[in-house]
Amino acid sequence: MTALREAFEKIEQRIVAACTRAGRDRSSVELIAVSKRQPQQRIEAAFALGQRDFGENYAQELRDKAQGLVSLEGLRWHAIGSLQKNKCKYVARTATMFHALDTLETAEALGRLRDTRPLPCFVEVNVGGELSKAGVREQELAAFLKAARMVPGISLVGLMALPPLDSARPDATRPYFRRLKELADAEGLSHLSMGTTADFEVAIEEGATHIRVGTALFGERPSRAAE
Ligand SMILES: *Cc1c(COP(=O)(O)O)cnc(C)c1O
Repeated sequence: MTALREAFEKIEQRIVAACTRAGRDRSSVELIAVSKRQPQQRIEAAFALGQRDFGENYAQELRDKAQGLVSLEGLRWHAIGSLQKNKCKYVARTATMFHALDTLETAEALGRLRDTRPLPCFVEVNVGGELSKAGVREQELAAFLKAARMVPGISLVGLMALPPLDSARPDATRPYFRRLKELADAEGLSHLSMGTTADFEVAIEEGATHIRVGTALFGERPSRAAE
């Protein structure tokens, strides 16, 4: 518990410092604690420290944790991983926000399955142009947004990216974050989900409104094989 408290305090200090450097208000940045592959007790411990926003990548894990932790009132789940159509129901039912929208099929499925207020979504952009990566390519973004804006049951709130990682040089991702902000501004989208353990301070300097930090808070994730 103490180590976790220290980790949260340290990240909080770094967020505040980055906000100060950027002339931003601390309240303009939401910290999402990425708890994927971490056991439920870790989430409960972080909740007890006051953390309310948690990020999960895998839809079934999200479903199971949301069921298991239903008694933690006020906890908000952020679905941050790309999503297969057959898993959309778990996200539509439990998520406060979806951060990785990149197909119209997913948008339509989520919208159809959502039975409360429209699900706020970030569109994931493949800013690095990497062939292997998820996300809408820049050249296709305007057309995608136009179509996705018509889909009932969801609302587009911003853009998200997971740029090519160079953990030795956090500054290496700065141009990608800057580009994502330009694209969001051009489309009139006010939220930016960007920055992880490796580069969240740079992301804040470049305008991130939602940072997704896992390892720096919870430590290394248990490997999948050990589950
Ligand atoms: C795992 C993950 C994170 C958190 O990464 P850390 O390096 O542990 O901070 C953030 N965003 C996405 C989309 C992830 O999958």
